[in-house]
Amino acid sequence: MAELQLVVRNGTAFCHGRAQRADVAVEDGRIVALGDRLRGKREVDATGCWVMPGIVDAHTHMALPVCGLRSGDDFDSGTRAAAFGGVTCIVDFSVAEPGMSLAASIESRREQAAVSVVDYSLHSEVVGMTPSRLDEFADACRLGVRSFKFYTTYSDSGRMTDDGMLFRCFRRLALLGGRAVVHAENDAIVLSMTKELLSKGRTSITDLPDARPSVCEAEAVSRVCLLARHAGVELRIAHLTSGDGLAEIAAARRRSNAGAPSRVWVETCPQYLLLDETSYEQACGRCFAATPPLRTSEDRLALWNGIAEGMIDLVATDHCPFTRAEKTMSERFVDLPYGIPGVETLLPLLLGEVLGSGRIGSERLVELLCEGPARALGLWPRKGVLAVGADADIVIVDPRERRSIRTDDLHMATDFSPYEGHEVVGWPRVTIVRGKIVVEEGRFVGETGWGRFVPQQPTAGSRELERAI
Ligand SMILES: [Zn+2]
Repeated sequence: MAELQLVVRNGTAFCHGRAQRADVAVEDGRIVALGDRLRGKREVDATGCWVMPGIVDAHTHMALPVCGLRSGDDFDSGTRAAAFGGVTCIVDFSVAEPGMSLAASIESRREQAAVSVVDYSLHSEVVGMTPSRLDEFADACRLGVRSFKFYTTYSDSGRMTDDGMLFRCFRRLALLGGRAVVHAENDAIVLSMTKELLSKGRTSITDLPDARPSVCEAEAVSRVCLLARHAGVELRIAHLTSGDGLAEIAAARRRSNAGAPSRVWVETCPQYLLLDETSYEQACGRCFAATPPLRTSEDRLALWNGIAEGMIDLVATDHCPFTRAEKTMSERFVDLPYGIPGVETLLPLLLGEVLGSGRIGSERLVELLCEGPARALGLWPRKGVLAVGADADIVIVDPRERRSIRTDDLHMATDFSPYEGHEVVGWPRVTIVRGKIVVEEGRFVGETGWGRFVPQQPTAGSRELERAI
């Protein structure tokens, strides 16, 4: 075979998700061959290393307005940190503003994201939807955005979509081959529990889990699964946290096996797998403020069981960093900016669970971090897989490297990591985005603006409809 542009040689490559000895050849940003003894003008030696598809982080919040602040990373700094962590594609969110159409908010966010170092796609945040605005979904789809984020809570800040509107949106999305992503918590219970806690002077961060107990999640998960099934829309539950929530997913899936067309994807995050509510008792407990809150160690175990049993499809970060000063701006949990950093530590933390604790297998890791998110978002098989024709998004991992996570070594725009001191085994060495090396041996060698927007394909079975619209 003629000499190729770039070849990653001698590694254990996860071709089509299966680990095997193979070289990976790249031309013009795509994978052109998987095989033995391939030669390239440029060669990267991956002897003793794993060659994985680049990680797709399906849930990030760069430069997100929260509590009068903005999450610390913009698309430049945040995607640099992502690249250091082996993430080659992020899926962030448009920011809905009153009076702005879905398409306008997507276009404005794409302008902000143009500086990205790695590829990006967007979910369209849906807030303040009305019957007269339903046609906006088709406009968003034409822009390549087919994933729409809804909240069943945050009525206090005007972000909630009520059940009636949710059902109508779901039905429209089903017609368009779109996907619904839901932050599922029961708003009335959250409001009522919060009010009760505040009236008793229970305002500490350790009270946050009681303000948003797992029944909130379980009830809302059950309800939106039912609505999605009746609407026939593909649904993704964002950041699932609890065993109770997972039980409702299992029940919904049993029902949908009875011939319903919709499917439910489930996402969880490293913080719900690795941390629990005891983090709130730490000296900087408020640094861990997030919604939904961290839960019990039993919930953590239930989520790991969910992963083992194939109930959970993807792990994403909900990356939303703030500084310690910002995270502690108030004593009261209700006045804090919610969100924690994570885009850079996603792969290292999960590698630790493969190579360290052995809790999951390496191929399952690739499913959870690459194939799962790419399929759930309509980015597969361009993203999330090492296969001929796919984008040459590659991360080379050294499975022998042991590290203790230290905030000072990381590149996210924050002085806090929830995983400070956490021991991991395995670390990303080289990150390649569409054939370009962007991180090499701990050095950034990419460029601002290299990232490209990745459009989302319609859901399977809806292609005909798509053409008709
Ligand atoms: Zn989020």
